[in-house]
Amino acid sequence: MLPHNWRVFKCAAIIFGGLLLLAAGCTSVHQGSEAQPPPPEWSATNNAAQTALTPPKKNPPIVNPRPASTTHLNLPPKQISPPAPILTWTSLDRWATENRLAAPRKVSNSPVASYAVSSPRGKMVLEIGSREAVWNGVEINLGFAPEIIDDQVFVYGLDLQKNLEPLLLGGPLAFGTNRVIVIDPGHGGANVGTHSLVDGRFEKEFTLDWARRVKPLLETNGWKVFLTRTNDSDIALSNRVHFAEAHHADLFISLHFNSAAPDKIQNGLETYCLTPTGMPSTLTRGYSDSWGDRYPNNACDAENLRLAIRLHTALLRASGEEDRGIRRARFMGVLLGQKRPAILIEGGYLSNPHEAEKIENAEFREKLAEAVANALK
Ligand SMILES: [Zn+2]
Repeated sequence: MLPHNWRVFKCAAIIFGGLLLLAAGCTSVHQGSEAQPPPPEWSATNNAAQTALTPPKKNPPIVNPRPASTTHLNLPPKQISPPAPILTWTSLDRWATENRLAAPRKVSNSPVASYAVSSPRGKMVLEIGSREAVWNGVEINLGFAPEIIDDQVFVYGLDLQKNLEPLLLGGPLAFGTNRVIVIDPGHGGANVGTHSLVDGRFEKEFTLDWARRVKPLLETNGWKVFLTRTNDSDIALSNRVHFAEAHHADLFISLHFNSAAPDKIQNGLETYCLTPTGMPSTLTRGYSDSWGDRYPNNACDAENLRLAIRLHTALLRASGEEDRGIRRARFMGVLLGQKRPAILIEGGYLSNPHEAEKIENAEFREKLAEAVANALK
């Protein structure tokens, strides 16, 4: 048996290179009026790179004190976090017992072993050696792949704190007291976003229409709703953050559509929130991903995840789209400086002919709007 506080010391090498070719995402989410280096080549989800990640035994070094992306993304001033407590790998059995949950049970042997741990709030399925996990049927992404050590499942402490605890142990999602929500239609003006494979119409048009449809539905549910833009204007990412601040928003939701062009196969729905400090992102799209960075929105790590799951689940049901998961990233300029739960939704691929056709259909966009509003009732 392992000693009570057994700690796995890992090789401190941090594998950054493997993250450079991760998949998908709206090609132009962050192409505001600012110039931006071209995105890396699109590729399939790089599971190999993900599973190879290993947490360091202490706070990771700040590899690049000022990422090249900073000015392009209108990032807020970054605070280098104080040394965090050294987190350990923890036995999932022991964690469940300490939190008065039933012992995790093995639910599958192949292709890899997976284990489920449940609470009254739902079920989390963890795959050994994979960062992908499933919460109540929806894909989420861990910081580090769970491991088997001496026949026991071990999970990294930050994943317990930032992924398992908010979902399995957290109370109901609280929305704040003002019931003010800012909806951010992505792009606008000269910043057109991506375009539809069907007829070349721009992403900026579809995001604005989606937001306009969401507004009255949320208002019916008692929300005060503000759109960062109500016409075809180009708003800097930093001004979208300031807008939410000025309106004392309780929640911020940025709406986008995706592209994997020239790939026409990739499809599905993705929802993003900021990566918690100390973890690698699910994807970096070629930007620096310094694990030690702490941004204002990191204060909302737990609520970000729960908000993302709430919206993502509702949108999957309404749209019938494929689940591409809740993803963590550090390069989304509209999220980092937010002092409220904030997420970014990629509502489908305009580069996939079938999905583009759906997105071009007003009835489908109304369904997406209803899903957002229903999720926030
Ligand atoms: Zn976009």
